[in-house]
Amino acid sequence: NTEVDYELISKLEVLPSYIPREKFAHKGTYGHALIIGGSYGKIGSVQLASKSCLRSGAGLVTAYLPKCGYVPLQTALPEIMVLTDDQDECISAVNFDITPDVIGIGVGLGTAKETQEALGTFLKSNKTPLVLDADAINILALNEAFLKNLPAQTVLTPHPKELERLLGKWKDDFDKLKKVKAFSKKYDCIVVIKGAHTITVYDGQGYINTTGNPGMATAGSGDVLTGIITGLIAQGYEPLTASIFGVYLHGTSGDIAVESTGYQSLTASALIDSLGNAYIDLF
Ligand code: AMP
Ligand code: MG
Repeated sequence: NTEVDYELISKLEVLPSYIPREKFAHKGTYGHALIIGGSYGKIGSVQLASKSCLRSGAGLVTAYLPKCGYVPLQTALPEIMVLTDDQDECISAVNFDITPDVIGIGVGLGTAKETQEALGTFLKSNKTPLVLDADAINILALNEAFLKNLPAQTVLTPHPKELERLLGKWKDDFDKLKKVKAFSKKYDCIVVIKGAHTITVYDGQGYINTTGNPGMATAGSGDVLTGIITGLIAQGYEPLTASIFGVYLHGTSGDIAVESTGYQSLTASALIDSLGNAYIDLF
């Protein structure tokens, strides 16, 4: 069966999955997320993903970057812990001595040969749940052998170009969904097809988001989504729920932000600043 069944996702569908904040919670209750990414000139993407990860509710967030990212990250985000690679301008090995609950990889990562090898080596031994975006997806497309090492229910968040690199060209939207469904089944992964109506696909089912607006077609918008989904998994949401709920919250943040920025002036940072109100808007 190559058909995909659909469900429209609005507030009514996401509310039951919401995990309330417990009165006696401590920061350990809401998990430790690791964001791996960045390369020279693209450190801002890691700032956006780490900050949105923290703002989504993760208890602790660590960022892993090339050395050149250390000062800007620590300066911009005092709440985030930072680990650095030995290399100055790109990631050349993924080695850390922390035990995160989830890892979001790929924003601003670049596709340098040594970074590709580092990701391949990391995937061979990794057992931690993953969210893969941007250049992590591009690296998978360049090295199909890496795909078999993804843990169950890995979340991939490609924009249209990244999806095309991964799956090849499709004939039309139906063909695209068929291809995504087959890919998702083959590698047991959740594919978040980003666009005006983002569709999350898993287990033959498509979840079509109903929030968001064209103001979100702006630099860094996807990095914010990566941070949100990673942060939700850190807090204990199942990867599929985190993807559907994360896409919904990200779109709601955009709908709230646009009321004060207008479509043209909406920025990824404004999405992060509206995330709290997106949570408040649930109730
Ligand atoms: P990226 O290309 O990785 O920065 O991701 C772009 C993000 O913005 C994704 O979450 C998209 O779903 C969202 N987005 C882009 N264009 C639109 C649009 N026209 N309407 C709603 N959301 C959009
Ligand atoms: Mg992106």
